[in-house]
Amino acid sequence: MKGLIVDPSRTYQKLLASALESGGIKVTQVATGGEAFKLLGQQQFNIVCVAMHLPDMEGTMFSSHLRANIRTRQLPLIMITSSEDKKTLDNAIALGVTEVFAKDELDKITNYAAQFSMIRGNSNITSGRILYIEDSPSVAAVTTKLLENNGFYLDHFATGEQGMEAFKKNSYDLVLTDIVLEGRMSGYGIVRAIRDFNDERARIPILALSGFDDAARKIELLRSGANDYVAKPMLNEELIARVNNLVTNKKLMDKTIEQQYRMEELAMKDQLTGLYNRHFLMEAAPSKLSESLRQNIPCSLLVMDADKFKLINDNYGHATGDIVLKEMASVLLKCTRKEDIAARFGGEEFVLLLSHCNISNALARAEKIRQTIENLHPVGLNVTVSFGVAEMQQSAAKNFTELFQAADAAVYQAKSTGRNKVVTHS
Ligand code: GH3
Ligand code: MG
Ligand code: MG
Ligand code: MG
Repeated sequence: MKGLIVDPSRTYQKLLASALESGGIKVTQVATGGEAFKLLGQQQFNIVCVAMHLPDMEGTMFSSHLRANIRTRQLPLIMITSSEDKKTLDNAIALGVTEVFAKDELDKITNYAAQFSMIRGNSNITSGRILYIEDSPSVAAVTTKLLENNGFYLDHFATGEQGMEAFKKNSYDLVLTDIVLEGRMSGYGIVRAIRDFNDERARIPILALSGFDDAARKIELLRSGANDYVAKPMLNEELIARVNNLVTNKKLMDKTIEQQYRMEELAMKDQLTGLYNRHFLMEAAPSKLSESLRQNIPCSLLVMDADKFKLINDNYGHATGDIVLKEMASVLLKCTRKEDIAARFGGEEFVLLLSHCNISNALARAEKIRQTIENLHPVGLNVTVSFGVAEMQQSAAKNFTELFQAADAAVYQAKSTGRNKVVTHS
């Protein structure tokens, strides 16, 4: 990311340079418009920052020159001014300045630079896969080439039906659709069909293209769920900018949702074993139990505690102990169904909450897990576990705490009568 600063004051050049550099933009500094245009002819820049008054030209004139040249006409241009005069500022914007900042707003310039390089600098954010539906072969060819040259991948289809088939099969970052199409499905139909999906695919951005530029149509499109609208014939720069914005937002949204999902995982799961943690169990168990009581469905709790685990740590080290815990946990995971909760309750103590499971089934499942672990020999070691089992109705527990106490008492009995066994609450 490269920036060009055009400012007659050496001191201010330095201040601006540090504002832009803090946003990750590498800067070159010159004092006059003449020097700037010489450099712009030789090198590629991503952003230009110009003072309101230069020794050889006004900033507004600089802007007009910049916009007149095909190489530089899309370059973002920020202008630094000491004037607060609204008319001057409006004039600057009209002449092609992208953003105006006051000289003393260095903090705003710093923020702008950081945001700018985050959005533009991250090349994998601004590329994306586009589903493109357009029935005119000539328009399709030109648009496809334009967007592909800007780093996007396009799947083009001539009808809405074909487009929707592809939409169901693949994953896209944007839908770009013409409104009037061959076949029975129009662009409106596509927008409605996509928004009717019941999963995350329904939130894909949609950019509609239309040969008509009337307000009623635009409003109807936006109302039916399109995010944006471009009238044909369209300016290349406008299409690219709108596509870029929508794809960038989509990717940021994906990232946010992914992060949220990971945070939820972190909050619910035990890091070592990937099982649910104690916190999650304590949140989820009460409602599961009251549901079972209400519907009179049997529900059982298994408490599993590793036998003489301290010896494993003492003899082979904590890291080996951790591997053993992980392998025990994967046995538990393999033995649980979707409606069960397998949790790590504490150090080497695990809990299985099994819905639709009466005491004899619970005992059978505990015994199967006990045998599997006995035959597991993780890292070549002999490890065994003891189980305490309690069933809701049978133990007359009224809540999770009482059910847990019943199962825990059974574990204690298993431990005191030899370990490596399954004992039920009596
Ligand atoms: P018992 O058969 O009576 O249950 O004997 P025990 O040694 O398993 O019982 P105790 O509760 O005295 O010891 C549990 C040990 O588990 C102590 C602790 O060092 C170990 N432990 C607890 N959490 C972890 C862990 O995350 N990793 C490892 N490696 N060890 C752990
Ligand atoms: Mg058409
Ligand atoms: Mg133990
Ligand atoms: Mg223990």
